[in-house]
Order: sequence, then structure tokens, then C-alpha cells
Amino acid sequence: MDQIEELAGAVATSKCTVVLTGAGASTDSGLPDFRSKQGLWQGIDPMKLASLTALRSSPVEFYQFYRHRLSRLSGAQPNPVHTALAALQRAGYVSALITQNVDGLHQAAGATDVIEVHGSLRECVCLDCRSRFPSSLIDADVLSPADIPRCPQCRGALKPGVILFEEELPADAIERALEATQRADLFIVVGSSLEVGPVNQLPAIAVQGGADLAIVNLDPTHLDRKARWLLRERAAVVLERCRGILKV
Ligand code: ZN
Repeated sequence: MDQIEELAGAVATSKCTVVLTGAGASTDSGLPDFRSKQGLWQGIDPMKLASLTALRSSPVEFYQFYRHRLSRLSGAQPNPVHTALAALQRAGYVSALITQNVDGLHQAAGATDVIEVHGSLRECVCLDCRSRFPSSLIDADVLSPADIPRCPQCRGALKPGVILFEEELPADAIERALEATQRADLFIVVGSSLEVGPVNQLPAIAVQGGADLAIVNLDPTHLDRKARWLLRERAAVVLERCRGILKV
């Protein structure tokens, strides 16, 4: 029996399987990991642009950057990672699906109740009244600070529904993620190098609680030595086979 067969067997017998997905789950949908070198935006580090400071100090570049990300997202379709996870969830094999991704592709593939710990690029939020709107409202041509997209209710500045650097993570999503992690007897990391905290601590919390850990990622992570199953393969290959073995 190889590792994927073993993992599928563990999914079949687990009482509470929790899955955490990261950027590697969406690369096959044409959405590059924005830590990768190709992700650079006009010579500016996107990590710096995706911050509250950038929104306030360089609003034109900030909104242009998010408009670019929205345009990439509009053509993106779910890939076999998303469809396999949605099928496993429908069949009752996944108790909680936590994602670091903001692309909404798990939901587009039919997954429900996705815990989006870094927010969603499908929405935008008013900085003043915190009302949420579809992201189409920030898909605007911002050429000067006067063009900043405004809240239809209070005229506050709208920001993308993603969590920016220097912002708190959404407390409700983090709480749900933690609660599911503490119940897990199997925790599967899919396409995350576990570099971004505090979400990267969830697998260790699961292991402390007695869960078996599986890591499906092309690159090494800081938790590899704790993983019972370490699969340095494309997530699509692993999940498609699990799906086939479990016949969902
Ligand atoms: Zn408002």
C-alpha cells in the first residue's frame, strides 16, 4: 500500500478530518502563489502593497494592484483539488475545510461552510461602517486618490474583503478553525508551505490533540517531521486518487 492509499484509508475511518488549504491548491487554476517571484507587481513587493499602510499611503497603486488580482480571479475556474475536496465533503469525509486562499474557488466547486481565515477577494468591506459588498464595487479605475471606491451607505473607503498585512484576522473564522482543529483526529494540509501565522500553527495544535497529520505540498514545511504522511506531490494528483479510492 502506498502513502496515498494509506491516507485515503485514514480519511475513510477518521471521525473528524480537517483540511487546511493554501496557495498550492489554486495554482492549477492559474492563480500564482503571490509569494513566488512571478508575483511581483510592477517592481513593487506585493507583500508591501497588500497592507493597510499601502492603502493609506499609496492608494492608487493599492487599488490598481487589487484590480489586477480581481481580473486574474474573474477568469479562474476550480481545479481538481477544489472539486475533489467538495466531493469528499459532500460524502461526509471532511468535517471542516479551512482555507488561507481568498479566491472563493472551493465554494465555486460546490464546497460549503468554508472557513476563510484570510477573508475573501469576492467581497469588499467599508473601512468605516464595516458593511460588506460584492467586490465589483472596488473593480474601479483608480487614477488619483479622488477615485477611491466609496461605500454606498456612508462614503467610507472600501477595502478588499481580504485580510491585509497589519490587520487582525477575522475572529469568528479563527475561532471556528481552532475549534475544528481541536476536534480533529486527522488533519490534512493541502498546498500550504505553512509560512503564514497564526494559521500555520493549526497543524501542530491538531497533533498535540492526538490527530494524525498529513502534509501534501511540493515544498518542505516546518512541520514535515511531525507528519505521518508526507506527500511531496501535486495536490491534484493526491486528491484525485483519494477521491477514486473512496469512490466519491
Ligand atoms: Zn460604510
